[in-house]
Amino acid sequence: MRAEVVQGRAAPVLSVVVPVFNEEAVVACFHARLATVMDSLGLSWEAVYVDDGSQDGTVRLLETLRASHPEIALLSLSRNFGKEVAMTAGLDHARGSGAVIVIDADLQDPPELIPELVAGWQDGVDIVYAQRRSRAGETWMKKATAHAFYRLMARVGGPVQLPPDVGDFRLMSRRSVDALLQLRERHRFMKGLFAWVGFPSRAVLYDRAPRAAGTTKWNYGRLFNLSVEGITSFTTLPLRLATWMGVATAVFAMGYGGEVVLKAMIYGDPVPGYPSLMAVILFLGGVQLMTLGVIGEYLGRVFNETKGRPLYIVGRHLTSSMAQPAAAS
Ligand code: UDP
Ligand code: MG
Repeated sequence: MRAEVVQGRAAPVLSVVVPVFNEEAVVACFHARLATVMDSLGLSWEAVYVDDGSQDGTVRLLETLRASHPEIALLSLSRNFGKEVAMTAGLDHARGSGAVIVIDADLQDPPELIPELVAGWQDGVDIVYAQRRSRAGETWMKKATAHAFYRLMARVGGPVQLPPDVGDFRLMSRRSVDALLQLRERHRFMKGLFAWVGFPSRAVLYDRAPRAAGTTKWNYGRLFNLSVEGITSFTTLPLRLATWMGVATAVFAMGYGGEVVLKAMIYGDPVPGYPSLMAVILFLGGVQLMTLGVIGEYLGRVFNETKGRPLYIVGRHLTSSMAQPAAAS
């Protein structure tokens, strides 16, 4: 779509999209490693850094780098929109005519794996994703919750199956990027969207390193929200569950209600039963509030989608100027 020529310059074959949010500690080191790897491929390339409203010196650093590295494009969003949206912005502005690679800036995704991803693409595979063999440097708590989440998604995902232990680090062919960019929903669960697009895919195994420097921008609150996002944007199963819970309660109520009425008629003593009454009222109250919450989740999503706002606002866009490698492609 947006391939070939932009502003009179030939488009590079590969684009590397890097969302950055307060990464001044690692970004220079990251680019050095990335450039070494990319230059060795002998294909023209660009690096699209998406500044997701960084507050520190990340942008200044990237501008300085760009002066000596013409392959750098810098897209500044007007504020922090979150990684998922930052990635989408990067994909929107990636000019790579052959394929686009998405990678984190914190060196947890080793740039040295990119040649393997590219090799997969050259074999004709559309989506080559990097699959973690281990999660070094992460707490057992994070490992356990991530594990539980992937297993849950495998249960409820239906036809759209998420490969487990796969992050956003991957290569996508131009046609799969164009397909992905047609999905403009506001609630973006990228791993799920990637899976929804389909196309032949392949995994490349790697060991995920601990963060090189800086601190993670995630916490359990954010991860929990991302999981809710993942589930509610891919399945309406929680609503179905609420229905079945209602049916089960109604069936139980009929049996138990019948017993209570019969007992009162036979023994003529309708008064006792305060504890059971209390238990039933509190239980039902809880179930009802929970179900309302589930409905509210979906309703909130409908509300946000119907507003039809743009996904992000671009503050500034500096394109890569020339992207010629040492060897011609
Ligand atoms: N990131 C971003 N916007 C955010 C949070 C993170 O663009 O609001 C970027 C961040 O700069 C990094 C990548 O997304 O390049 C992954 O973030 P992080 O390492 O904090 O996540 P984790 O690896 O812990 O999942
Ligand atoms: Mg990280």
